[in-house]
Amino acid sequence: MLDSEYLAQFTNKNIAISFFKRQNIPYLEYLIDKDSTIRANLQKEILGGMDFGRVPKRKELSNLFEEVRGDVNYFLRTDVKECPIEYINFFSREMRVPLATSIVGTTLLYSLSTYEPLMGFGALLFGGLSFLTLLGLNKSMQMTGSHYSINKNFISLKENNLALIKVELAHEFAHHVQFSNISGKNRTGSHHFNLKMFLEGHARGVQKQMAYKYFEKENNPAYLHDTIDISLAELKASYRLLCGFFPGVRANENLLNKNISITDKLIQENMFTPMNPPFHAVGNSIFSIWEALHGTDIYGNIINGDYDTKTARKKFFE
Ligand SMILES: [Zn+2]
Repeated sequence: MLDSEYLAQFTNKNIAISFFKRQNIPYLEYLIDKDSTIRANLQKEILGGMDFGRVPKRKELSNLFEEVRGDVNYFLRTDVKECPIEYINFFSREMRVPLATSIVGTTLLYSLSTYEPLMGFGALLFGGLSFLTLLGLNKSMQMTGSHYSINKNFISLKENNLALIKVELAHEFAHHVQFSNISGKNRTGSHHFNLKMFLEGHARGVQKQMAYKYFEKENNPAYLHDTIDISLAELKASYRLLCGFFPGVRANENLLNKNISITDKLIQENMFTPMNPPFHAVGNSIFSIWEALHGTDIYGNIINGDYDTKTARKKFFE
């Protein structure tokens, strides 16, 4: 189990300290250049038609999960059991309480209308408003996309094509592995929030490794397409942030414009607002740098309690 003492090195503050270092600039430039070439090749492939597969049926999810769970556990050297998994829709778990409230409230008001005719109007109003609220809630969950619920321990997936669902599932299951290894108070609200950069960076790394694995195993670049697109956009956005931190240092615009995509633009415009701090982007960047320095074993080492940020860096820079 990962205790508070071990996890202290991965708080948002400490990850930010590791990230805002001048020596990280050339690493990010190297990584951006490498991934830009990969994305350019993927974009050529997509023009020729890329097979993302069909949207898996609900009953097919458990077999899919079993495959991804086995692969992520093998990669991380863990043996974490499955958790409940479902598609985000009107009847999914997070919708159950609001849905029940809406039905019970409307029925109650309607039954009271026998005694007080005005209640019939109330029932109609309540039913209508709560239905609109439910529609809004469902829409906002669809926009949030796939996610892992820590307190309730389950994965919600956005309905998507097979190649996209499998890598998203790898990301969300990585969160389940993290929280199966994190003990005590760090599982709760503010403590867990304080580890968000670390948790998202680690999950993004696992997602990328699984995307490469399925790409190679099935000889299908569709597995890589979206993951590389978002990851590269995050690397570019945090590179700009890092360069801006040092007076007199300018970001290499040629590099940032190399094979620029819509995702690059969206992330650079929306990522660094107070409402949307760069947890994924900086987390992804610091893990990508650690991975470039120490290899892909770091994802398993970190989750198995065998990684020390300070000595790992010192070993490299001495
Ligand atoms: Zn995540």
